Amino acid sequence: MKYAIISDIHANLEALDTTLKQIDKLGADKIICLGDIVGYGANPNECVETIRERSIESIIGNHDAVACGKTEPDNFNPVARDAALWTRNSLTEENREFLSELDESKLIDDFLIVHGAISDTDHYIFTAYDALIEFNLMKKQSVCFFGHTHVRTYYTFQNDSSTNHLDYEFKIDVKAKYLINPGSIGQPRDRDPRASFLVYDTEKRTVKFTRVEYDISTTQKKIIEAGLDRRLADRLSFGR
Ligand code: ZN
Repeated sequence: MKYAIISDIHANLEALDTTLKQIDKLGADKIICLGDIVGYGANPNECVETIRERSIESIIGNHDAVACGKTEPDNFNPVARDAALWTRNSLTEENREFLSELDESKLIDDFLIVHGAISDTDHYIFTAYDALIEFNLMKKQSVCFFGHTHVRTYYTFQNDSSTNHLDYEFKIDVKAKYLINPGSIGQPRDRDPRASFLVYDTEKRTVKFTRVEYDISTTQKKIIEAGLDRRLADRLSFGR
């Protein structure tokens, strides 16, 4: 099976559409989303509808949870909170219900998918030490995909040590454990403004990260026209 794995779309329709076109060209058997379909961007309904129409298997992210009213944005910064509440008001009843029914984590084939971390869906994996805590929880699975940080990267656990890697393509070693972040579709924060995703081929045991350019200026225009914080538009140019 060839899985395309996407995460953190954040209501950025231009980035999502361009990414899906690229995935169609590459020819994936199944598309999986690691959460945060909405929040920050101006097209929450359109993005949720795309996920539904394309039958993309998704889990819930922290922004989705606030947008559908499952949680309150108590630990959000003011910009994120305002955007989350704007999103809550903008969502249709049907899309709100769809988000509220998503699971927090899932087992697909022999790999695990989570939004933030296995230990806590709101937790960020930013370092090899953060990853080590999660590796200790991976008793049965050796591969887990996560999002939430908006940073494309992966960690391995082998010979009792947790290591961070940045190469764009690698082969899964059966003797190691892996925590892999595809990066963000709609709001990358790794200083590369292009949308980021990956393809996991379970037969060849390969993982390949891909970046795609999309029409950032249209997304920025929509964010400003919607009355959302201007900084949410500006940061897209810099990928941070
Ligand atoms: Zn996110």
